[in-house]
Amino acid sequence: MKEILDAILADDLEAVGSLPVPESYRGVTVHKDEVDMFEGRASRDKDPRESLHVDEVATPELGPGEALIAVMASSINFNTVWTSIFEPVSTFGFLERYGKLNELTRRHDLPYQVIGSDLAGVVLRVGPGVSKWKPGQEVVAHCLSVELEDAAGHDDTMMDPQQRIWGFETNFGGLADLALVKANQLMPKAPHLTWEEAAAPGLVNSTAYRQLVSHNGGNMKQGDTVLIWGASGGLGSYATQYALNGGAIPVCVVSSPEKADIVRSMGAELVIDRSAEGYQFWKDEHEQDPKEWQRFGKRIRELTGGEDIDIVFEHPGRETFGASIYVTKRGGTITTCASTSGYMHTYDNRYLWMSLKRIIGSHFANYRESWEANRLITKGFVHPTLSKVYAMDDVGQAAYDVHRNLHQGKVGVLCLAPDEGLGVRDGALREKHLTEINRFRGV
Ligand code: NAP
Repeated sequence: MKEILDAILADDLEAVGSLPVPESYRGVTVHKDEVDMFEGRASRDKDPRESLHVDEVATPELGPGEALIAVMASSINFNTVWTSIFEPVSTFGFLERYGKLNELTRRHDLPYQVIGSDLAGVVLRVGPGVSKWKPGQEVVAHCLSVELEDAAGHDDTMMDPQQRIWGFETNFGGLADLALVKANQLMPKAPHLTWEEAAAPGLVNSTAYRQLVSHNGGNMKQGDTVLIWGASGGLGSYATQYALNGGAIPVCVVSSPEKADIVRSMGAELVIDRSAEGYQFWKDEHEQDPKEWQRFGKRIRELTGGEDIDIVFEHPGRETFGASIYVTKRGGTITTCASTSGYMHTYDNRYLWMSLKRIIGSHFANYRESWEANRLITKGFVHPTLSKVYAMDDVGQAAYDVHRNLHQGKVGVLCLAPDEGLGVRDGALREKHLTEINRFRGV
């Protein structure tokens, strides 16, 4: 591994393809024999620092259409948290099912899972049949893994019945020194970003693009009012950028004055601090309080000059969904990609059907959408919102921070990269965008 790293650090990328592939590598894992370790504990008390390990694992054999990547940096996503607390289900069930498909997928069904759904790194080897990518190329990987043997996936690859999230529903993820991906997950690394900056946007940036911008999601247009929950968080910090870039009017919801400052520094003007306002959308575990929905809607109108919301960017789920349906404009859209606070949603359906609103389910993004989202990063139209970077050995703490909502934007992890700040290839482009890069990172 040292030879590979030395070649990358010396910019001798052509050499990378001829160096031997190590038989094993360091990876962040969960263990199958530990999936019950948190039984009886509340979700909040399930601690990723106990369940995430850094292990030396065997390098998988490279199959057709695949690529082996030397990973310089990766990032924490909320799916890292879900995997580490074994909720809502253990991810080993995904690996077992995937392993039953064919001989190649059987490699994924192991007593450990190397997790992680983002990476920035260098192509080390490509498998048979790969012509678009070569060893030595600097890449990022999106996390859509598809088989595409069914007709159903050929209009929109997210519709493939064998669609999986790499590093969550598959093994050999990006929180590691090596990663195995399908070649059709690869995209060019932004040349003006460091390794850790380049690894940060991937999953959330693509998800926000589909959910808000794509015709498969909110199909946002200029002038739309967009309610963004968790606007300084992983998804929200990209949704806020898309709303601002696209000429829409974001109404950003956050939970502290510091987070309000972050979204304001991104350019958002309409901000609601949900903690300061003290919204209690649920009276108790079973009943919601429509008066609180109204109070929230009134605040939105005060900010927007009397307008309701065209598109709600939903992901908190159970706690906020009733309010999200209520504050949406007649004919408006609620796009949802998650249920962090609980997936059994209840809402008053009269506000949906009588006002002809639509709920759109959105999940990650297809290759085309991911490519467009990455293109905006490489051109400096969208910026990484990386707030903190950890060494791989501290990955448990990194995931704990995200689990406990102690973080902002994205949290990065160094893999092979020995330090932060490496990997910039286009200094002039970086210089051009330096003010924004620093501002969006909170530097
Ligand atoms: P994140 O970085 O933790 O940000 C989420 C933000 O939502 C939090 O920072 C918090 O912001 C806000 N929030 C959390 N609980 C809330 C609640 N009960 N009420 C109101 N706001 C709440 O996480 P993320 O990366 O954005 O991911 C968010 C969710 O989306 C996770 O469940 C994740 O698994 C899911 N997700 C799904 C996909 C997909 O493809 N389907 C992709 C990415 C993420 P404030 O405290 O500032 O309000």
